[in-house]
Amino acid sequence: MTTIEYGRFFLPGPTEVEPSTLAAMTQPVIGHRGPEIQRLMGALQPGLKQLFGTVRPVYVSTSSGTGMMEAAITNLSRKRVLCLVCGAFSQRSYDIALGFGRPADRLAVGWGEANLPEDLREVLAAEPGRYDLVTVVHSETSTGVLNPVRELAAVVREFDDILISVDAVSSLGGAPLRMDEWGLDFVLTGAQKALALPPGLALAAASERAIARARAIEHRGFYFDLLKFEKQVERQMTPSTPAVSLMFALQHRLDLMAQEGMEVRWRRHQAMADRTHAWVEELERDSGRAYGIVAAAGYRSPTVTAVRLPDPERLSGPDVAARMRERGYIVATGYGALKPESIRIGHMGEHTMVQLEELLAQLEEVLT
Ligand code: PLP
Repeated sequence: MTTIEYGRFFLPGPTEVEPSTLAAMTQPVIGHRGPEIQRLMGALQPGLKQLFGTVRPVYVSTSSGTGMMEAAITNLSRKRVLCLVCGAFSQRSYDIALGFGRPADRLAVGWGEANLPEDLREVLAAEPGRYDLVTVVHSETSTGVLNPVRELAAVVREFDDILISVDAVSSLGGAPLRMDEWGLDFVLTGAQKALALPPGLALAAASERAIARARAIEHRGFYFDLLKFEKQVERQMTPSTPAVSLMFALQHRLDLMAQEGMEVRWRRHQAMADRTHAWVEELERDSGRAYGIVAAAGYRSPTVTAVRLPDPERLSGPDVAARMRERGYIVATGYGALKPESIRIGHMGEHTMVQLEELLAQLEEVLT
């Protein structure tokens, strides 16, 4: 197995994990019923609440992010779900609804575009009472689009009895998000993206409204029953055996994030995104070739950029990723249909501007 040197791993998840976080996982395992886990869960809560921007408790789930996406569908809709779709991961909420036989519709835009508040208002107003849950992705990792979640939530609040669930898997900890202030009912994320933890944990918080809705739903599933999470988090525990080693790592990361400061962290991510966008524009200008950014201007994620390649027949996304790997760097190919014609750079987690500059210099050599 080739070992990638630290500072060179730029996938948009999983992201690089710095050594002290890996070391935190080597603490002795503790039981999941009793004072040790209660101390650990209790210690996690202040940092998690700050991360989510909520006064509500934050659930710790031993699953990947998709588990909590399922929870949103099975626990929060009694009528019909409206899934805002702008790429592969936002499509997943719709696919989950179909998988559970729950009524759902899609409000889709093209890949690279964002879901807009005015489109949402039009659909919700067309038949008031049709939907009781809207799902939206914050940072669409397949395209690098950042949806205007705050504005979309404000539209949802114009209507009675509709909840909004936000997939913040590749945004939380890297892009501003304030659950309570923005009126979000369910926010979920995964450990392995902007939080820079190893994969294996999902985190989520539910509003009081969301919990009231879950209480009114008879069949919420079992492993991802939010009422079980709610009950256990009040006792500083989890419904089933949690990945305690990952929770030790999470505790360590929350301490490091508190030292950095959330606003500073958001600015660092934005600066890396701005630099990547400027680099693509320079590349296009200097080479005279049609490089581009997949995400529409004004809707670009601070954590991931998908770069369009000018001549995929000659040099495709997989070619670029393979050549970068030969140089000891990891970037992602485009996602799904965009695989041949783009690459994706994950500038999130613990990456620094210096590391990003080194990556872009290597990438420029490969591309030109
Ligand atoms: N949502 C987004 C935006 C993602 O980027 C991903 C994973 O890449 C997921 C959901 C699915 O998360 P997981 O792979 O942790 O289940």
